[in-house]
Amino acid sequence: MSGTATAHGTGPGLRAYVEGATAVLAEAGVPSARHDAIALAACALGLPRVELVLPPPLPEGFARRYAELVERRRAREPLQHIVGHTVFRYVTLRVEPGVFVPRPETETVAQLAIDEAAAVAARGGRPLVVDLCTGTGAIAVSVDTEVPASRVVAVDLSDEAVGLARANATAVAGPDLRVVQGDVRDPALLAELDGTVDVVVSNPPYIPPHAVPLDPEVRDHDPDLALYGGGADGLDVPRGVVAAAARLLAPGGLLVMEHAEVQDVAARAAADATGAFTDVRTVPDLTGRPRTLVARRVAHVIVGDSPA
Ligand code: GLN
Repeated sequence: MSGTATAHGTGPGLRAYVEGATAVLAEAGVPSARHDAIALAACALGLPRVELVLPPPLPEGFARRYAELVERRRAREPLQHIVGHTVFRYVTLRVEPGVFVPRPETETVAQLAIDEAAAVAARGGRPLVVDLCTGTGAIAVSVDTEVPASRVVAVDLSDEAVGLARANATAVAGPDLRVVQGDVRDPALLAELDGTVDVVVSNPPYIPPHAVPLDPEVRDHDPDLALYGGGADGLDVPRGVVAAAARLLAPGGLLVMEHAEVQDVAARAAADATGAFTDVRTVPDLTGRPRTLVARRVAHVIVGDSPA
């Protein structure tokens, strides 16, 4: 009897299954084959994670269940869609087909919003934060949980995203997180909050129409609505975010918006063009690529002769 025997006999142990699946996934071009093979094993076992050093016994039917999951991943279905969740900063979020899967690089975008909200809270305020194009609610939930004094309003256009963001808010966030359906380009969106918001944060769709993503997980599974920003440069929706921020932010409030690395100049120009922002700058991501627009709302905007 070998040391890799299962609870139900002498079949291969978990390590052998994972090695086999790793080879299959690597062959299919999955970039993180071993990581995904282990995550799928945990999913097949119904466990949050597995240790190969001390593998759990394998229940009846594991081989078939695992093979099905590995086959889906081999066909380049996103890991997060298969296991149904992802980790973003400190929270585990539900993920579903039809809603953009949150990315690690957006964690640094959220950080900028969290730092600003925390600074407002440290001054004794209750920061009002608006997350535009919230998707799963990743940024909104993070601000809400990491800055407990904050009041957060999350907005998305898509039915699926609004439903999922609400589910994630209910599961992870406090009662001060509100999810609203709306279009960032609608000048009446959240008009009751005009001039009162401390932070507007957004990871909007921004991919230009010609820059179709290469990864099948993104190209074939993230919704087009969440990927392509519209217009020749992909910046239609991001410009809508900038305009909404100019309207919503209180004097001194902060706009934080993710964009593609080729869009830093255009994003700053969009903020400058409103005449509503000062300290307009680009913050690099952890790999040094220019990926986030940061701009502070000026006290008074001069439109013609009248301060707005
Ligand atoms: N970052 C996305 C991607 O990697 C692009 C769209 C977005 O984040 N809003 O495909």
